[in-house]
Amino acid sequence: MPAVETVLGPVPADRLGNVDAHEHVFLRTPVNPGDEFLDPGKATAELTAVARSGIQAVVDLTPVGLGRQPRQLAEVSRATGLHIIAATGYHRAAHYHDSHWARHADEQTLLNVLLADLRTGMDAHDWEFPWPEPTGHKAGIIKLGASYQRVSPIEQRWFTAGAAAARQTGAPVAVHTETGTAAHAILDLLDQHGVPAHRVMLAHTDRNPDPELHADLIARGACLVYDTIGRIKYRPDSVVLDLIEHIANAGKLDHLCLGTDIGRKSAFTAYGGGPGMDVLGREFIPRLQRRIGPDGVNIILQQAPQTFLTCTESGQA
Ligand SMILES: [Zn+2]
Repeated sequence: MPAVETVLGPVPADRLGNVDAHEHVFLRTPVNPGDEFLDPGKATAELTAVARSGIQAVVDLTPVGLGRQPRQLAEVSRATGLHIIAATGYHRAAHYHDSHWARHADEQTLLNVLLADLRTGMDAHDWEFPWPEPTGHKAGIIKLGASYQRVSPIEQRWFTAGAAAARQTGAPVAVHTETGTAAHAILDLLDQHGVPAHRVMLAHTDRNPDPELHADLIARGACLVYDTIGRIKYRPDSVVLDLIEHIANAGKLDHLCLGTDIGRKSAFTAYGGGPGMDVLGREFIPRLQRRIGPDGVNIILQQAPQTFLTCTESGQA
């Protein structure tokens, strides 16, 4: 059975259980000043609620430079019993100050950072210090990001590094789409760099709730991640249920994952906010069960993540 790399080591894909495919355990970004969350105790409390809601594995898509704390992440995994898959990679450009080293590093350095996180273990200080301190807690997925309607020039450099790391390690790739845009361009670019669509997860596609577009992206082989569950300012969750019903009717639920992607302290229950990271299991999954039944839910929470989070065997694809 192929394995998925978690912060506590490889886990057979069929042992992951129900997967929440897009979260952030710790995050700090200039995009949301004052809304960072870096407290391990509060993270443990939040993810304990996630575990109680029926989720057994969480994909933490916090990439390089946005507050990753690998040792604390491993502690949260041990304390909660949740499998946690961590990310390396580079987010969309807005998440990095002009002075951040990732904007100025050469291509080999950009790639070496990713390979170190994937093969040796994530750097203890998230690459803020001049010398690395590998923790032994490996990243299991490569996260990239695109801007609204385009992949900007600096993001294209990061895509080049991310795709090279994916080719060399076999790690899966997840890409932030801004409001669900530029998804075809993202798949085109990765394909040009040797990463086919069937190894790519497209985050936030539910921000652009266009069922025809989504069917086309699935037809190319990509996995959609509907990850704004419970964030009602974007649209009611019933719209996401409608989108999922479209995919169910097409028999393509094995190309869909779910998450909440809460990126602000003010949305965490542990910090006194809402809806909380457990809103997926607590509120949305019961509604989804009523819509598409337990077998369909199992495909989304287990079968699709097993496929798309697995490292390819050769690592030289
Ligand atoms: Zn995210």
